[in-house]
Amino acid sequence: PEISSKPPLTIRLCQPRGFCAGVDRAIQIVVLALKKYGAPVYVRHEIVHNRYVVEGLQNLGAVFIEELNEIPAEHRECPVVFSAHGVPKSVPEDAQARNLFYLDATCPLVSKVHKQAMRHQRLGRHVLLIGHGGHPEVIGTMGQLPEGSVTLIETEADVAAFVPSDPEALGFVTQTTLSVEDTAGLIRALQDRFPAMMAPSAESICYATTNRQEAVKETASGADLFLVVGAPNSSNSKRLVEVAERAGAKMSLLVQRASEIPWDDIAGISTLGLSAGASAPEIIVDEIIDAFRARFDVKVDLAITATETENFPVMSVLRDMKLTPS
Ligand code: SF4
Repeated sequence: PEISSKPPLTIRLCQPRGFCAGVDRAIQIVVLALKKYGAPVYVRHEIVHNRYVVEGLQNLGAVFIEELNEIPAEHRECPVVFSAHGVPKSVPEDAQARNLFYLDATCPLVSKVHKQAMRHQRLGRHVLLIGHGGHPEVIGTMGQLPEGSVTLIETEADVAAFVPSDPEALGFVTQTTLSVEDTAGLIRALQDRFPAMMAPSAESICYATTNRQEAVKETASGADLFLVVGAPNSSNSKRLVEVAERAGAKMSLLVQRASEIPWDDIAGISTLGLSAGASAPEIIVDEIIDAFRARFDVKVDLAITATETENFPVMSVLRDMKLTPS
């Protein structure tokens, strides 16, 4: 038999990884809107945090904008899609005021957090939002409630510094894509200071975040390198890199494409952990495995830690459209 001259490499491939139901739905909404209404379809903010996905949709005729006032007057009839991360209430209001036709691709699990925040407020509670400042999901969740009724908690220092007007009337929610472990720590710290603080009636961190972190935790220990496919502005992808490090990977990196792999630094590796954030397409995972196959004698071990069956249907106005196989 032929003896490979390439060094052996075992790839522990996490499953679940990559696209979640919310990302899948958001992309479908843009594709179906293009099919039904024709180009251009405007999309407010990156539909999901992945450049490959964004460029693919641009090629089909999607136009990405940051604010609604970027839509030229002659395109007022074109649909505008809101991204999976969710938007402050002011955005649909603004769209209505401008007579725009909008399709809201906010993930149903983000909408659920919005509802929980509104419920706290309805019950007279000041809302604590655990999350990362500046992330569009955090901007969207804070923007469900009037200014001043939500306080963002990012760190233990924020917990210590927070002075509520009524410690008996507090409720918390979290961003959907946080570290399960860090968030549990922050919640404990808040509960220590404010024992009367109320939890949301359902977990805010979503199934996809939890499952992807769990899979990384199971596979990262002892790996010479752990690669997470994802974008630097993707919250859930960045958390996977941290989870891999903590779980004992010797090195852990976020890469958007195979071209970003630092081959010189990783020449001696024999085990690689591999996962992908919820906004990273499988085609890039394949590209990365192929890049390793070109340099190593690769054996892929699938590490299955959960089975996901979630599927979020698109809004009824697009349901009559069929996706053409790509
Ligand atoms: Fe929805 Fe979770 Fe996916 Fe975000 S990561 S789009 S909350 S399923």
